Amino acid sequence: MIEQIRKHAVVIAGGGPTGLMLAGELALAGVDVAIIERRPNQELIGWRAGGLHARTIEILDQRGIADRFLSQGQIAQVASFASVRLDISDFPTRHNYGLGLRQKHIERILADWLCELDVPIQYGIEVIGFSQHDDGVDVQLSDGTTLQASYLVGCDGGRSLIRKAADIDFPGWDATVSNLIAEVDMAEEPELGIRHDTLGMHSLGRFEYEIRDSKIIYANEGPIGVMVTERQLRTSGEPTLDDLRNALIAVYGTDYGAHNLRWISRFTDAARQAAAYRKGRILLAGDAAHVHPPDGGQGLNIGVQDAVNLGWKLAQVIKGISPDHLLDSYHAERHPIAARVLRNTMASVALRRPDDRTKVLRDTVAELLEMEEPRKRYAGMMSGLDICYDFGEGHPLLGRRMPDLDLLTAHGPQRLFTLLHGAKPVLLNLGEPRGFHVAPWKDRIQLIDARYASPWDLPVIGAVDAPSAVLIRPDGYVAWVGGVAQTGLIEALTTWFGPAAAS
Ligand SMILES: Cc1cc2nc3c(=O)[nH]c(=O)nc-3n(C[C@H](O)[C@H](O)[C@H](O)COP(=O)(O)OP(=O)(O)OC[C@H]3O[C@@H](n4cnc5c(N)ncnc54)[C@H](O)[C@@H]3O)c2cc1C
Repeated sequence: MIEQIRKHAVVIAGGGPTGLMLAGELALAGVDVAIIERRPNQELIGWRAGGLHARTIEILDQRGIADRFLSQGQIAQVASFASVRLDISDFPTRHNYGLGLRQKHIERILADWLCELDVPIQYGIEVIGFSQHDDGVDVQLSDGTTLQASYLVGCDGGRSLIRKAADIDFPGWDATVSNLIAEVDMAEEPELGIRHDTLGMHSLGRFEYEIRDSKIIYANEGPIGVMVTERQLRTSGEPTLDDLRNALIAVYGTDYGAHNLRWISRFTDAARQAAAYRKGRILLAGDAAHVHPPDGGQGLNIGVQDAVNLGWKLAQVIKGISPDHLLDSYHAERHPIAARVLRNTMASVALRRPDDRTKVLRDTVAELLEMEEPRKRYAGMMSGLDICYDFGEGHPLLGRRMPDLDLLTAHGPQRLFTLLHGAKPVLLNLGEPRGFHVAPWKDRIQLIDARYASPWDLPVIGAVDAPSAVLIRPDGYVAWVGGVAQTGLIEALTTWFGPAAAS
């Protein structure tokens, strides 16, 4: 029997948060995409990310799905650096907060969204290899079949097979400390909360909790989530209940009668980043492209943001709208973002060291972060609201996130983010109506005449001059700022949304 080879424009290896978000972006752009996921279903064993930062919530809002997450999580001030809480309630954004919501819920909500968008997710199958050639990629699966794709995106986590098989370097820093993380029953009531000692940081808490006044209030009963620093660095071998008991005794002098281990895993402070996010028709996103300690809760957030940066670019290349080199801007823009996350997490780990001198240093950093300017700078970084891609000199908005303005359009009041729900670029004209002439791009962009009378205020940098027009990419970043003179507009349209269509 001849095997029928299935084809998709894009195959995504891995249906974690990054792969799910990327598939959603591609589906919105009308691109045929499929996810191959090793797990038997979307169920996530174990704790991982605990929530979303402000910029990620904004990104979900740009697609009209933020409420699905907000309604199931707990709004709180979650941004922090080196365990110093950074309040962003004065930041000019509709979402001047973070969201406490476990990764398993984030994934479930994203997977439900994909179901609405008719994206096929093949569970229980692994990508085991691929070969790329001029016209595409043959993706080999663990069930013996092969998929053909124009592009393969490795969203397959920190141990990414795609990254390794593509022979992409993963330079960085080896682990210096390891932590066990587990969910277990305890016969005795443990000391809930965070503890620092000569080994490092440890925490015990219940899965069910509420956030009140930015404080975590744990439920009175239920299994205990443990995060404990190990006495000695361990980077290999599957951890066991005995490992957990020993680590608990080393810190608390007791294992609190730990039994009935539901799951256990180990994470370290290793920090590595792919040297290239693209090799021909192979792309990497999320943990496949960068791993770092969980300090500041940034990994899932930047993975989802990688996906939103890559999705529309890949869609345009596949549809023949843009040349293939548009994909190089994905590495150029996103590599520096993860590089600074590696940097800030490494600094945070160093500041967690338990010796007295480091403690004094930690207190000093905490004092500095109470000052207005450092607080804003670090809060902008940790929340992702300060991101500015390097598009050259120009208005301060250039390369930054477009704020969710309350516009007045011909159809009445409209939030700017609603214009991005379909992931289509927007040329927003805030000057004289019908002042722009961009006919060759009319099918690719939305040309919106609108009024906006309020001040322009951006996180971290504050007030900026009101522009008379802006070109907004589908990911919500500003690609051009100008006026009806259209200086530089044609170049920006060509760079981001392909050459002019023949009339
Ligand atoms: C203890 C801990 C706490 C954390 N806390 C936070 C936090 O508070 N905030 C935050 O933003 N981040 C946090 N993170 C990081 C966050 O969990 C990760 O950054 C996030 O899961 C990355 O998403 P991803 O989709 O890129 O990769 P993953 O979530 O790792 O998903 C990869 C998927 O690929 C699948 N897969 C792997 N190989 C293959 C293959 N060959 N074929 C098919 N499928 C494959 C896997 O089954 C998996 O589903 C934390 C991590 C840890 C360990």
